[in-house]
Amino acid sequence: MTSLDDLPLRDELRGMTPYGAPQLDVAVRLNTNENSYPVPEAAVAEMEKALGSVLRDLNRYPDRDAVALRTDLAAYVGHGLTYRNVWAANGSNEIQQQLLQTFAGPGRTALGFTPSYSMHPLLAAGTGTAWVDGLRAGDYTLSAEHVVAKIREYDPDLVFLCSPNNPTGTALPLEVVAAAVETARGMVIVDEAYAEFARSGTVFAPTLIERYPRLVVTRTMSKAFALAGGRVGYLAADAAVVDAVQLVRLPYHLSAMTQAVARAALAHTDALLSTVDAIKGQRDRIVDTLRGWGLPVADSDANFVLFGAPRGDSKGVWHALLDRGVLIRDVGLPGWLRVTAGTPEETSAFLNALEELL
Ligand code: PMP
Repeated sequence: MTSLDDLPLRDELRGMTPYGAPQLDVAVRLNTNENSYPVPEAAVAEMEKALGSVLRDLNRYPDRDAVALRTDLAAYVGHGLTYRNVWAANGSNEIQQQLLQTFAGPGRTALGFTPSYSMHPLLAAGTGTAWVDGLRAGDYTLSAEHVVAKIREYDPDLVFLCSPNNPTGTALPLEVVAAAVETARGMVIVDEAYAEFARSGTVFAPTLIERYPRLVVTRTMSKAFALAGGRVGYLAADAAVVDAVQLVRLPYHLSAMTQAVARAALAHTDALLSTVDAIKGQRDRIVDTLRGWGLPVADSDANFVLFGAPRGDSKGVWHALLDRGVLIRDVGLPGWLRVTAGTPEETSAFLNALEELL
């Protein structure tokens, strides 16, 4: 059997393992922060119609610039943005990869603040970008002073912020984002994959785009829009950023089917986002219940909750929950576990199983 070591692998990829949560066939899957609700029937019917209208033309390449989809996404984000401020790709992961290819890469440095979304350093490695870690405070919060100090220390070409942060769930105050862009010489990316789930009063970075041409907000249809399988992510930024990303994007990267399905989904934004309130309700139920049991719980603006495992036994509790048919996520933070807020039934299954382990 040939092993990876027998291949002329790039040095920085040696010893790495591919990213990915276990895809186990378990009754209650609350480990990847998906939306637990299926796509509503009305939207499914519209998507089928939209697909039907593009299938016959699949002999042709799709709209390389995805202008119609970007126009719809810009209208959804609002703040006066147009399609020239928006770029779409196969998930926000691909968007972030394109940003690293454009603004970082060999000889350049990206700064992040872990624990945060673990794909950021992996995307850096994959694009030959050096990764430096500014780390978070002991309670996993991130202050403007800390961000500014680390940007001054490392002088990165690209900064990753994540709001609401995965895996902690808490949104960043907008002052932290502004302080980062004011200080950084390079690009500042704010990963807002979970923005739609924020607690009321939270303000997000698209409001700052007009002021800061080096600020990029990345978002996704994978979470609130319940379209993780559709693979649609996007960025909002100054139009020059969108122009710059064109230098690295693959031609026709976004299939005609993806574009059609995403546009049909956006035409049913209200129906698709109607699950968001229900999910936030279950999120708050998890937070309140676990705090009631005396477990430490991070404030959540997302569709998931980071909590301290009973007795600090994150590995044991993760396995015991799996034995009870509930799959959650061990994010590699000793003592902590992350659970996605599901339907009321899924959430009950999680809470009942956890209560048995207290
Ligand atoms: N950013 C964050 C913080 C995430 O948690 C995820 C999904 N796990 C993504 C981006 C990627 O989402 P997608 O590629 O599906 O848009």
